[in-house]
Order: sequence, then C-alpha cells, then structure tokens
Amino acid sequence: MNQYDTNNIFARILRGEIPCHKLHEDLKTLAFLDVMPQADGHSLIIPKAPSRNLLSADPGELAAIMVTVQQISRAVMSAFGAGGVLIQQFNEATAGQTVFHTHFHVIPRHEGQPLRPHTGQMADQQVLKAHAEKIRQALAAQ
Ligand code: 5GP
Repeated sequence: MNQYDTNNIFARILRGEIPCHKLHEDLKTLAFLDVMPQADGHSLIIPKAPSRNLLSADPGELAAIMVTVQQISRAVMSAFGAGGVLIQQFNEATAGQTVFHTHFHVIPRHEGQPLRPHTGQMADQQVLKAHAEKIRQALAAQ
C-alpha cells in the first residue's frame, strides 16, 4: 500500500512526460508552479530521487531539498511582494497528501488574503507562465 508509484504525476513531470512551469532545476531537485495554486506564486519543490513522502525520503536528500525550498521562498516573496511565506508538506492521504512523490509547498502570503482551497481550481496557463517568469527573474537576482 505504501509503495512508490513510478507513474505518479510528479515522476512523470521529472521524466518530461508532462509539462510544467519550471522555476529551478539542479542535480537533486526540481521546482515548478502548482497548477491549482492556493495563492499566486504557489510553488512545489521535489527531489529527483523517488520517494513517496518525507517519511521514506533518503535523509541524504533532505538538505538539498531545503536549500531549494529556501531559494524559492525568497524568490516568491520578492516576486509577489509577499509579507510572508507558508511552507506546507503533507504525508499520506490522512494528512492531505494527494500526489505520492515527496514535495514541499511554498505559498506566498499577503495580510488579510485567505488561501484558495488545496487542489481547488486549475489556473490559466498564460497566468502561470507569467508568474513563473517573474519568479525566475527573482531567482536570477538572488
Ligand atoms: P499534495 O496534496 O499531495 O500535498 O499536493 C499535490 C499538489 O500538486 C496539489 O497542490 C496540486 O494542486 C498539485 N498538482 C496536481 N497535479 C498537478 C500537475 O499535473 N502539475 C502541477 N504542476 N501540479 C499539480
């Protein structure tokens, strides 16, 4: 039951079978926009190594993941003029996980602005494209 499914959506993104709005890629991690953002700039950071979630991830991968989480957090704060950033990470369906490849959510927050629902509405692709460009520019300026 708690196996890694090599056909989960993020594994397919890593193999290039499904497109994504890529923000950053290095040897160990990939960052891209969430297609159902809870706020503008909602980003996902995943390790390239297969694991179902944090519970089974290789501890040796964690530092690299968190470095990318920090870089993307700084970039989305700057790109969207956010007052803060929320890091979310779900483990197993009971805790709200819907895609079973380890990932961290990075969500820019603005005072008084409620979050949209988790896995709510698909964003417009042109809007996502523009947001990804803004974040890549902020990353380049770091
Ligand atoms: P989880 O619920 O497992 O923590 O988060 C999975 C996230 O992946 C959700 O926020 C959902 O909106 C996002 N997501 C689901 N399918 C896709 C997809 O095909 N592409 C991208 N970029 N994000 C996806």
